[in-house]
Amino acid sequence: MELQMVHSFLESSAAARPDKVALVHDGERVSYRQLNRSASRLAGFLLQRGVLPGDRIVILLSNGVKYAASYYGVLKAGAVAVPLNVETGQETLGRLLDELQPAGIIVEQGGGHLLQQFHLVPPSVRFLVAIDTSVPGDEPRLVWGWDEALMAEELPEGAGKVSPEALASIIYTSGSTGQPKGVMLSHRNIVSNTRSITQYLRLTENDIQMVVLPFFYVMGKSLLNTHIAVGGTVVINNNFAYTASVIRQMAEEGVTGFSGVPSTYAYLLHRSPLASFRDRLPSLRYCTQAGGHMPREIKERLLQVLPPHTKLFIMYGATEAAARLTYVEPERLPEKLGSIGRAIPGVTVRVLDAQGEELPDGACGELVASGPNIMVGYWNDPEATARVLDGNGYHTGDLGYRDADGYLYVTGRKDHLLKVGGHRIDPQEIEEVLMSSGTLLEVVVLGLDDPLLGKKLVALAVPLGGNPSDRTLLSFCHARLPRHKIPGEIRLVAALPKYPSGKIDRASCLALCG
Ligand code: ATP
Repeated sequence: MELQMVHSFLESSAAARPDKVALVHDGERVSYRQLNRSASRLAGFLLQRGVLPGDRIVILLSNGVKYAASYYGVLKAGAVAVPLNVETGQETLGRLLDELQPAGIIVEQGGGHLLQQFHLVPPSVRFLVAIDTSVPGDEPRLVWGWDEALMAEELPEGAGKVSPEALASIIYTSGSTGQPKGVMLSHRNIVSNTRSITQYLRLTENDIQMVVLPFFYVMGKSLLNTHIAVGGTVVINNNFAYTASVIRQMAEEGVTGFSGVPSTYAYLLHRSPLASFRDRLPSLRYCTQAGGHMPREIKERLLQVLPPHTKLFIMYGATEAAARLTYVEPERLPEKLGSIGRAIPGVTVRVLDAQGEELPDGACGELVASGPNIMVGYWNDPEATARVLDGNGYHTGDLGYRDADGYLYVTGRKDHLLKVGGHRIDPQEIEEVLMSSGTLLEVVVLGLDDPLLGKKLVALAVPLGGNPSDRTLLSFCHARLPRHKIPGEIRLVAALPKYPSGKIDRASCLALCG
């Protein structure tokens, strides 16, 4: 029978191989039976608290076993899982809770105190499950400890049932083009995308995935679901800063898959040269990259240093697409190095002009995607939804073209285009040139207000080891770019501000220039 609900992935894997290890975290190894039971008990607890289908339950936990149990527990109860970054600032958290009007919140250690202290809990909240059991309860009972919640009876058969079209999760975007938006994803959206991904990555129960990306970020969520769906194992490591120890753990656990955004790989190459570990990763079957444009220079270096048997999958997607839209088959990567590949099974990605007409090969337009994975809309924001969803599908805001073989290329984002004098400039092209100098860890090109030109170009560059001077970099640009695309200034900095997903935070970079 075809599984139609996100939590059915966990249930069917638990039925098929109950003793198999589902999660590894901090020395703890949790079987499918244990994970499924915890999720069912949490679902039972939610039902006891009067949670109804469609109610939002906020999950404010970092990656771990309790996160996974909460996520699947909320779904089993027919409610909507809303994972938020545990480090969300007070003001943003207050705003998000206000717009979500959740029925309950599951919080990290100390989080219960924080929420109460700052009066962030909206009246809609009927209960809080705090991992920190020392949080005092009050009358009527608001705060429950995690262990108390798990003492509930497992969810009775048939309870909490909703249709595949029901909302499963609201996931917030990174916010690279403004305020983060709450993307509403149905069970059908997530299930279809999970299936496509497991199909093209050929995931099986023998796969063991190392997860260093947060589960509240769409790519982290997808790593969890895809590996639980096939009955594989997810190894959680929340200390990516210690890159060498992450690779060591991959060797020890016999990890078969690793995933990251561009900065993940830049740091892996720089901090712990992968080349020195490659002989210790005989089981590493694949690495995947998504979340942003990864410069060719990094891809080339990765291809050189990854173990020869490891396949590198370059992929493209968005929160609005439940995660994934396209991928490049590893066999074709060397020949299509700048490409994001072709649409994944069940999805269509077309290049359209401003009138919604399909453009011929080679012509640049907006990438527009359709398929069962495309979101229901943005939470509480019908206007924003109407701006990106229409009869043609989801307008990604990404600009690009298709080559004669049907491979797609992203040249930049509409919202990142800079108007300099009379020219429209895509910072990605300049970033790519600067990275090809081979002397930088990462770089971002920004537009600073300029009374004459409208914007003037400034690059913030993080040097790789030895110090390239800004003058060397500028002459490198002069040899490769037309005059109007040469940054007026290149500033060398120690690091670039990032979102928790690892994506470069352009707004904070801009503030740095101020
Ligand atoms: P916001 O919508 O709030 O601005 P965001 O778009 O960064 O945030 P995500 O859904 O995390 O939120 O990111 C999706 C975007 O990431 C895509 O639209 C695209 O611009 C970029 N992206 C993802 N993968 C790739 C890739 N392989 N190459 C180029 N760009 C990519």
